[in-house]
Amino acid sequence: MTRAEINLAHVRHNLHELRACLDADAKAAGRARAAVWGVLKADGYGHGAAQIGRTLEQAGVDGLCVALLEEGIELRSAGVSGPILVMGGYYGRRRDAFEALVEHALTPVVYDAGQIERIATALQFVRGQGGRMDVHLKVDTGMGRLGVREGELDAVLRALRSAPALRMEGLMTHLACADAADLDDTGEQLARFTALAPRVASFKPALRHAANSAAMLRLPGAQLDMVRPGIALFGVHPCPERDGKGARVPRLKPAMSVLSEIVALREIPAGEAIGYGHTWRAARPSRVATIAMGYADGLSRALSNAGHVLVQGQRAPIIGNVSMDLTMIDVTDIAPAAIRDQVVVLGQQRGPLGEDRISADEIAALTGTISWEILTSISRRVPRFYRNP
Ligand SMILES: *Cc1c(COP(=O)(O)O)cnc(C)c1O
Repeated sequence: MTRAEINLAHVRHNLHELRACLDADAKAAGRARAAVWGVLKADGYGHGAAQIGRTLEQAGVDGLCVALLEEGIELRSAGVSGPILVMGGYYGRRRDAFEALVEHALTPVVYDAGQIERIATALQFVRGQGGRMDVHLKVDTGMGRLGVREGELDAVLRALRSAPALRMEGLMTHLACADAADLDDTGEQLARFTALAPRVASFKPALRHAANSAAMLRLPGAQLDMVRPGIALFGVHPCPERDGKGARVPRLKPAMSVLSEIVALREIPAGEAIGYGHTWRAARPSRVATIAMGYADGLSRALSNAGHVLVQGQRAPIIGNVSMDLTMIDVTDIAPAAIRDQVVVLGQQRGPLGEDRISADEIAALTGTISWEILTSISRRVPRFYRNP
């Protein structure tokens, strides 16, 4: 029935490809290769953070990043023992959140004095006088989202000086336009980031980092000491139409396929309409197949009368309005289509009628969004199966 298949060998392959790119860039520039901390927020971009986290750790990733405290705890519970950076830094009203960071040995991102004081207090409470903890300081160089603004930097650095149990392991920023055609804004952000370095030099942060997937692939100069790729680890190129300026272009393999099944099949005469709102009407006698996946599973309603799926290795158009649990497709031109046939909604299919692929980029373009949202929209109702060939 409807399911997502996650190919863990592809995740390992993607990590190795990214490392090879970093190696080539580092060699060309005569510097050390950047460390790779994989980004596994939002349940590992919908792939299952626990499985992906264990796979990456076994494959030698240097660290992992998540957005939320709960996501960090989930990775620890899954047996991940390496560094985990909690990038969000907001903990709501949970007073125990700061203690949970310490107890689970998570590395918090900090950007205001109050946070720093609370973390230092929690550290002393949980670990006693000798406790030490790494933090990464985030500065806002132009994303306008999270991070210390330049004008507030001195106050935050004072707070860090008053909390000597906290060690500034990392100094980070986030780039707003790394996938844009024009990299001028990104260059400016990086220049601002570099200019801040002397002000924090006394803290000796070992890991300066700024790059997401797009920046690490397109701007070797953004790799610094560490990179934070997310989407590329899952085999989706962050901006497929633009090659990097790096010494090497990675050959990524998509990790997720989404499969469903034909559960009903009917012949309808020309002129008959189908689905909610009757938005599709048969122009000829047609065979209509119903598949067991709808918008509640993550098959966007924006694909109504727009997208395709694969049946028997051939494209079948989505017809009528996608409904919550079911979607209709036109299989008039796919003669052998039958009940129980496998349907590929995302991924590759080889069948008697050919071979084709539907990528996250294709679906994103049709639905007016980005591939990140396509992957994270596959809902919890769709069970994940892991292939580890
Ligand atoms: C999500 C995220 C990343 C990873 O971005 P990709 O484009 O998926 O590589 C890196 N850094 C931060 C702060 C993020 O929020």
